Amino acid sequence: MPSTIGGVGPAQLLSSYLINQHICIDAGSIGFHAELSQQLAVKHVFITHSHSDHVASLPAFLDAHFGVGIDSEDPVTVYGTETTISSLRMDMLNDRHWPDFIRICAESGRDLVRLQVIEEGVPVQIEGLMITAIAVDHIVDTVAYIIEDDISACAIVTDTGPTDEIWKRCHQVKGLTTVALECAFPDRLQWLADASKHLTPTTFKADRAKAPDPDQLRFLAVHLKLNQYDEIVEELAALSLPGLEVMKSGLDYQV
Ligand SMILES: [Zn+2]
Ligand SMILES: [Zn+2]
Repeated sequence: MPSTIGGVGPAQLLSSYLINQHICIDAGSIGFHAELSQQLAVKHVFITHSHSDHVASLPAFLDAHFGVGIDSEDPVTVYGTETTISSLRMDMLNDRHWPDFIRICAESGRDLVRLQVIEEGVPVQIEGLMITAIAVDHIVDTVAYIIEDDISACAIVTDTGPTDEIWKRCHQVKGLTTVALECAFPDRLQWLADASKHLTPTTFKADRAKAPDPDQLRFLAVHLKLNQYDEIVEELAALSLPGLEVMKSGLDYQV
């Protein structure tokens, strides 16, 4: 699969995963850290959920696109579930947090940005890829994304506590090579991980085991909290899981 995934941004504070230059999963950091040309190349943004670390840079990202070229020729499309899109409308593009560009588009007759509701389990075809949202288990409606082409596939699974549906779906995916799976807290903060529905190295290991043939997959640990980063890395390393690495921001990953 000619896809690459790269975390955008110097640390894992904010989530954005670039796929083949034109698609981004989450807008936590792309509008803050990616080069302008890199931002302008992205026309499709798939949001996992409405938490700030996954949407924080969306206003800046949209700003980067407005006024470039002819407005209505190639608008950005932001995809998410009904809950997520409605949160973007109510909490972000509401004229208080940021101008309501959906209203502005309607009033001006310009096609600057589109919000597209997607259904869980129903693939979206874009740029030769098939992208499918699968519900995971977080404190707000959240989806993981499975990204496939004719040859291979990867899954981006963040944010979530222990979950099942995504792993069942992974068993049906041909050519799955790589899973980016969150591991937000160290084991000593299991209570906090449970309360906020995230994973620790112990629950990461248990969820990894639900994947098809996990020892043959590359697992990239993502969403490590910065103030416990070294502790989580040490605990993950102590598990000695084949194919496990901590995803590095700014690197390309061939999947
Ligand atoms: Zn979250
Ligand atoms: Zn998060």
